[in-house]
This record gives sequence, C-alpha cells and structure tokens, in this order.
Amino acid sequence: MVKMPLDFSKCNVYFDFDNTMTHFDVLDDIIEKFSINRDWVVFENAWQKGEIGSRECLKWQMRSVRATKPKLSRYLDKVRLDDNFQGLFAFLKHKGAETAILSDSFSFFIERILRNNGAHGIKLYSNRLRFSKNKLIPTFPHTDRSCSHCANCKKMHISKLGRRGRTNIYIGDGLSDICPAEHSDIVFAKGSLQEHFTRTKKEFIPFNNLGDVYRWLEEAGNVDETEGGQELSAVKRK
Ligand SMILES: [Mg+2]
Repeated sequence: MVKMPLDFSKCNVYFDFDNTMTHFDVLDDIIEKFSINRDWVVFENAWQKGEIGSRECLKWQMRSVRATKPKLSRYLDKVRLDDNFQGLFAFLKHKGAETAILSDSFSFFIERILRNNGAHGIKLYSNRLRFSKNKLIPTFPHTDRSCSHCANCKKMHISKLGRRGRTNIYIGDGLSDICPAEHSDIVFAKGSLQEHFTRTKKEFIPFNNLGDVYRWLEEAGNVDETEGGQELSAVKRK
C-alpha cells in the first residue's frame, strides 16, 4: 500500500531506457539497420515467444551486427531523449528521490545518448559492449545465474537499491520490464508492459511520454493527506 502524498525522499524511481526515455527502441533499430543478414529475426521471434532469454537472444543477434565505433556514434548522435526527461529528473532530484536507468541494452549506446542530450548524474545499470573493429562483442555483468530470462536482471537492481521501507516506482514499456515492474509499488506502463498488466489485472498507470509521468508524480506529491487513497485512484484513471 503506497502512502499518499508521496514522500519522494523515500522513493526509488527506475527508468527503462528504450522507448521509455527515447521515442523508439534504439537497440532494435541498431540491430535492424546494421546487421549483415536477417539471422537476428529468428532470435527475436524466439525471445518474443519466451523460448529463449534476452542474454541468449542478444548474444546471437550482436553477431550479425557490423559497425565501427565512429559509424555507430554518428547514428547515436541523432537520437533524442524524451523532452520531458530533464524536467522530470530535476524534479525528482530536487525532491530527494533516488533514480536509476535499468536497461537490457548496452552502456555504450545509452551513455552517448545521455551525454548528447545533456542528461548527467543518473545511475545506469545495463549490458556492456566492446568493439573489435566493426564487430560488437557483448558482455553481461548483471545476469542472475538462477534465471535465464534477462541479460541484465532488473529485479536484482531493485532488490539491492530499493531497500526496506522505500517506494519503488517503475517506468517501462517492454517484455524485460514485466519482472521488475511486478516487484515495484507503482508502475507506469505502455506497450507490451501495459498489455501484460492489463491482461493480468494488475494496477498500473498508463503513459504515452514522460510528461504524463511527471504530471502524475507532481500531483501524487501534493495529494491531500486526508483523502490520499481516493485522490490517487482518481489520478490513475486519467
Ligand atoms: Mg523499453
């Protein structure tokens, strides 16, 4: 049960990256644009059906990608963050919330996009890459050995960062967000995460962009304490 108004100094806010902080799935786009064959499609389909985990999927998919660091950098330099991110991040920081990006993509992509868009000071937990000429070699420093579903175990970060007594707030859109969202107290969902939460009849707040999230959180911080619960569901139905 989340207590209203939200005390942000006791909140951890987790952002998925692709299609949550950006307007499209950058990793999927890179795989599609820079692969030398269509072998990646088989793995993508198997992952969508839950037949393989994302670590297995990404390991095989990255084998088809060919791009030098400068070529990929030029591509990444065109990617824009959601315009609302900076305002939301400044608000959360000002209110004393802890924030982190949890992504099943790669730090090289994300860090460059963040830097280009002037987004500094947010923690990032993601997979890693190194270049061998035009080949991209992935490594997965945050796997959970007991579960093969994800490459970067987002739930593990929430368990470590979201200590007892903290309110975990999750913002995401995809299949890799289901598990961490199910271990969070407040969930903002779109895309397949929204479909999953609708199908399984779990509570969530739908969003289209981070401006929606910002508005909801701002209101949740100002809810009248005496009618907190009521007010929260009213906001949720928007
Ligand atoms: Mg995503």
